[in-house]
Amino acid sequence: MVELAGVHKWYGDNHVLRGVDLVVPRGTVTVVLGPSGSGKSTALRCINQLEEIGAGCIRVEGELQGYREGTRRGEDVLYRLHPKQIAVQRARVGMVFQRFNLFPHMTALANVMEAPVQVLGVSKAEARERASALLERVGLSDRLDHYPSQLSGGQQQRVAIARALAMEPDLMLFDEPTSALDPELVGEVLGVMRDLATSGMTMIVVTHEIGFAREVADQVVFMADGAVVEHGPVSQVIDAPTEPRTQDFLAHVL
Ligand code: ATP
Ligand code: MG
Repeated sequence: MVELAGVHKWYGDNHVLRGVDLVVPRGTVTVVLGPSGSGKSTALRCINQLEEIGAGCIRVEGELQGYREGTRRGEDVLYRLHPKQIAVQRARVGMVFQRFNLFPHMTALANVMEAPVQVLGVSKAEARERASALLERVGLSDRLDHYPSQLSGGQQQRVAIARALAMEPDLMLFDEPTSALDPELVGEVLGVMRDLATSGMTMIVVTHEIGFAREVADQVVFMADGAVVEHGPVSQVIDAPTEPRTQDFLAHVL
């Protein structure tokens, strides 16, 4: 389970997250929608501790991901995790970005093996076995020895998903994973994500793929101006939004 309570984030004077509250129960899928600049990526980056929050608290599986009291950045730091603790917790959260971010000089197999060997200390033999099983799971058993430049965008994104799964995360975060893909490649990536959702993975997905949201989302969250404006099941937030900002956004997306 993931819980954000009163999360604020400033970049200098730019108040980017303005009290984000969000609960994602274990084994459920939350789809996050919202206009550009509303803070969706920043919220994910805070959950993954790529960014430090300015106030509020974030818990993943009950564990505090850093906590600060105060209203301005840098004030009254009450509690802060040790960098080693952050590294351990971050390893339990997988993240997939819009751009594939694979290591270009490594094969698909080596990309997926890398973190388990380097971070978890798994033996190469075991990591290789697990990596090939994961690549098979995302439909790439015939591409193990290909380099990223030899793969399509959809294939690269599926390697990126396998690479995140290799760390056996409790939670997977996806930040517009299909928005950089050619339209004909979107389906294969959403298909892998759908299978992952069915397998019971806890997922937070920033995407404007409303069809995907309809199929797998347990909860839809609409963000605007750094806060959650509306949240609930698809039948509520997408089919019968009550907030004018949600209605306006959906009118442009649908
Ligand atoms: P998009 O749909 O375009 O991806 P978003 O909802 O993901 O938008 P964010 O990327 O979270 O929005 O950005 C929210 C605000 O924070 C924007 O005003 C942006 O300019 C600012 N911002 C994001 N990252 C940084 C950064 N590293 N340094 C300074 N400002 C940032
Ligand atoms: Mg973004």
